[in-house]
Amino acid sequence: MRLVLLGAPGSGKGTQAKLLMDRKNIPQVSTGDLLRAAVKAGTELGQKAKAAMDAGELVADEIVIGMIRERLAEPDTANGFILDGFPRSIPQAEALDKMLEELGQPLDKGVLIDVAFDSLLKRLTGRRTCADCGQMYNVYFSPPKQEGVCDRCGGEDLQHRADDNEETITNRLEVYQNQTAPLVDYYKAQGKLVSVPGEGDIEEIYTRLTEEL
Ligand code: AMP
Repeated sequence: MRLVLLGAPGSGKGTQAKLLMDRKNIPQVSTGDLLRAAVKAGTELGQKAKAAMDAGELVADEIVIGMIRERLAEPDTANGFILDGFPRSIPQAEALDKMLEELGQPLDKGVLIDVAFDSLLKRLTGRRTCADCGQMYNVYFSPPKQEGVCDRCGGEDLQHRADDNEETITNRLEVYQNQTAPLVDYYKAQGKLVSVPGEGDIEEIYTRLTEEL
């Protein structure tokens, strides 16, 4: 299964991608996670990407497309992958199609996780990620059982992402509307679009999603 997960920041793409990865054994490839790891490690790529990420802008295509090209060349993606946060613009989607055509592995579906714009701000400001295992929480909607402690691994460092502040969020949502939302029509035109309502319980959304696949 070769999937792209589409949706605004805060729509729950990462949460659903991680569930799919755990339960279907298909790797999640998140450009956001890869970029954050590069920033944390202080690599040259991370240094180049940091300013755009802090401002909520898109990182240059050559950086993210190169990253995806390298990642999709790794053997664990041979039986499929879930792209989360890539592509984020029409040029990136075209580059992906070309890359997958060369590999003889076309995309199966573009899955839109559809969430009303008004609920995104609260979803983003409430978001927390376990520094140890990457499990995601939301202090308003899906908190851990014990405050500050990860249900999955027991880690006690639930972090708030630097770019989940109101000012940067506003810009990220605008970038999504202008550059990423057109991908819905792009995949519709290819007959690959599936749309899943992204409000409500995480498990319900997962069930809806897998029923569509
Ligand atoms: P995410 O974790 O997907 O919300 O991504 C966090 C940030 O990383 C974004 O706000 C962008 O600055 C950058 N980023 C992630 N994926 C991409 C991409 N496909 N193209 C450009 N920038 C990206």
